[in-house]
Amino acid sequence: MSNHSGSYMLNQVIEILDRHEMFSGIETTTAQTAIKEIIEMATNKYDCNRGEILEGYAQQFNLCYSCLADDANLDDGLCATCLRGWDETD
Ligand SMILES: [Zn+2]
Repeated sequence: MSNHSGSYMLNQVIEILDRHEMFSGIETTTAQTAIKEIIEMATNKYDCNRGEILEGYAQQFNLCYSCLADDANLDDGLCATCLRGWDETD
């Protein structure tokens, strides 16, 4: 059971920060570090879901929502390694 409301609350926080262009004046790696720190805190302490937090933003931050790898070639939010992992579970 994961904390869906907490996950979507954080997704909306990212949306608010993005709408106010809080990520536009900083280095991509700085934004990635901040987003990863939020996601790790939320998943480790509050049982949140990485995919729900990053929904609509994985591509923007070049972060795979599954493993949080820095990847500019995400497919539906997933890096090639995680995508292969998903395919194998089908
Ligand atoms: Zn990945």
